[in-house]
Amino acid sequence: MPRRFPIQLKLTIGALIPLFIAILICWLTGFSLIASRIVSQAQDRVRTDLNSAHELYHNELERIGDVVKFTGRSPQAARDLDRNDLKSLDALLTPLMQNEQLDFLTCVNTSGRIVFRAGNYAETATSEWSGGLIRKAIRGNVVSGTTVIPYEDVLKENPRLSETVEVSVRSTPHGRRSPKQIERSGMCLVVAAPVQDAVGTIVGVLYGGVMLNNNNRLVDRIKRTLFEGVQFDGKDAGTATIFLDDLRIATNVAGRDGQRAIGTLMSERVFDRVILKREKWTSRAFVFDDWYFAAYEPILDLEGQVIGALYVGMMEKPYLLIKNRLNLVYAGVLFFGSLAGVVLSWLAGSHLARPIRRLEAMARRVATGEREMEITVASRDEIGDLASEFNQMTRALCQRDDEIRELNRGLEQKVVERTVELEEKNLLLLKTREELVRAEKLAAVGELAAGVAHEINNPMAIIRGNAELLQMTLPADSPSQEEVAIIARQVGRVERIVANLLTFARQGHKQPDTTDLNRLLDEVLDQLGHQVPMTRISARKHYAEGIPPLYADADQLRQVFTNLFLNAVQAMAGSGILSVTTAADRSAGTCSVTVTDTGKGIAPESLGQLFNPFYTTRADGTGLGLSVSYGIVKEHGGTIEVESQLDNGATFRVILPITHRSDLPA
Ligand code: ADP
Repeated sequence: MPRRFPIQLKLTIGALIPLFIAILICWLTGFSLIASRIVSQAQDRVRTDLNSAHELYHNELERIGDVVKFTGRSPQAARDLDRNDLKSLDALLTPLMQNEQLDFLTCVNTSGRIVFRAGNYAETATSEWSGGLIRKAIRGNVVSGTTVIPYEDVLKENPRLSETVEVSVRSTPHGRRSPKQIERSGMCLVVAAPVQDAVGTIVGVLYGGVMLNNNNRLVDRIKRTLFEGVQFDGKDAGTATIFLDDLRIATNVAGRDGQRAIGTLMSERVFDRVILKREKWTSRAFVFDDWYFAAYEPILDLEGQVIGALYVGMMEKPYLLIKNRLNLVYAGVLFFGSLAGVVLSWLAGSHLARPIRRLEAMARRVATGEREMEITVASRDEIGDLASEFNQMTRALCQRDDEIRELNRGLEQKVVERTVELEEKNLLLLKTREELVRAEKLAAVGELAAGVAHEINNPMAIIRGNAELLQMTLPADSPSQEEVAIIARQVGRVERIVANLLTFARQGHKQPDTTDLNRLLDEVLDQLGHQVPMTRISARKHYAEGIPPLYADADQLRQVFTNLFLNAVQAMAGSGILSVTTAADRSAGTCSVTVTDTGKGIAPESLGQLFNPFYTTRADGTGLGLSVSYGIVKEHGGTIEVESQLDNGATFRVILPITHRSDLPA
């Protein structure tokens, strides 16, 4: 059997597939948008930070410039330089250098000779690195910038810098390889300005600077200003670095141990883009031991040569964390959104499937034969249409059922009627068959009787003649007279039997004529007294008026009624009431004669045999009376019926058709 897919599940899946696809697309695009947005925002920020760092770098330069410039313009400096008053210069410049956190501050006269080094009083030898600066400043210019000073010259300017200027090179997995073990050149911010007297005459040059090697003041200020000391994972989230060439000489990029990454090298990629190609470069970069959003710009010296780089960077991790959190929030929203979608679509599915299930249950009830029901679906959609169609269908079914029931009832009625008809026909058939049998029997008996009667008649005539002769010849008082009389009586009886037999045998040979029934009955009743004593018998006649004359054999009919009246009188044993009733039924075209007595009646078992020839219950009976009568009535196209109860009289009814001469065949 194929697997069942409920409509609710289909609806849910149908609703969920586009939802899931939409969610997936949202998730992917949303995530990638967030990711790229975060990256681009981080890169924008770091680019801006680099500009700010650049500003701070130049602010520092300006600060040094201000110190040098304004000191150069002070009358005391010009006077002391002019007089070569080292003591006064010392008093002026040494505290200034310390207060302003300069690493060197040197005074030069107009001939280029070193007059006083605040960082190294003893040293007055000139250095090659500062030659260009001094020349420009003597011309009245303030010169500022970044420069690299050889180690020996650093020591000349300030021997105390020997400890800080040296930077040991450390190799890192991502840093470029360097043959150098140690970097001794010093990278400094330097400013040179003319020293002018009160009238503006240049009397010398003052230059001072700050050594950047191992000096983290500037990078820390950049960090503080830009990133406000934000830390992540125990480390500074924002970092700044000053590179000398490819080497970190001042930085707040630090390892896990908190040790600054001074002495480590930039990656080959950064070196290529920033140092060699002199480009500003913003990218995701692996800095020392972590990934950063990094921005670099080359640092140029006074001659415009690239001597290093300024870097600011932000750890990638916080952004990743934000990205992951956002992703998580996004995923959560989408997950709960889709969960709500599942629940809602399931509920919607179940809401839609409910009326369908009700319809299904109704259909099942209809299938089991239930009809009187109505489904109520309020929804105005296909399901509502289906429900109203369903209701219409059940109504139609109901109507059809009623019609079928009605038809069935009619059919049953017809079957009953037909059965009754059939039973009637069967009875008729049975009756006809019985009559046929009886007729055959009568015919056979008639034939036999005719033969017997014929044979008996002659001997009987002889016996009668002789008996009569004997009676006449014997004296009247002869004792034999009685025996002869018995012989004569018995012969009379035999002759009656024979006559009956002959009548019986002669049936079918009737001679019809116009006969008045009532009159015929009167005649028979009148004759009756001659045959049986009627003194205690009351004969009551109930004749119908206007019975049409019959066209019948009057003698034969006379015999019929004689038999019936005799039987009645005999049954009443001499006393009782004999009723004779006639009637005519014009619509049926019949007339009837009903003979009723108040005699002993007939036993039910005898009723069926009355009309059989030779059936008699009387000792002197022949059993031919009724069978002969039956034959005659039949011969006239009529019927003879009997009704009786034992000890309650009997009723014989003869029904004859009212026929006319013209009705009968010629
Ligand atoms: P029979 O009169 O010679 O006996 P029927 O054929 O006339 O022959 O009558 C047959 C029998 O029917 C009678 O023997 C009698 O038992 C019965 N029978 C006829 N008519 C009546 C009647 N009116 N009341 C009672 N029994 C009758």
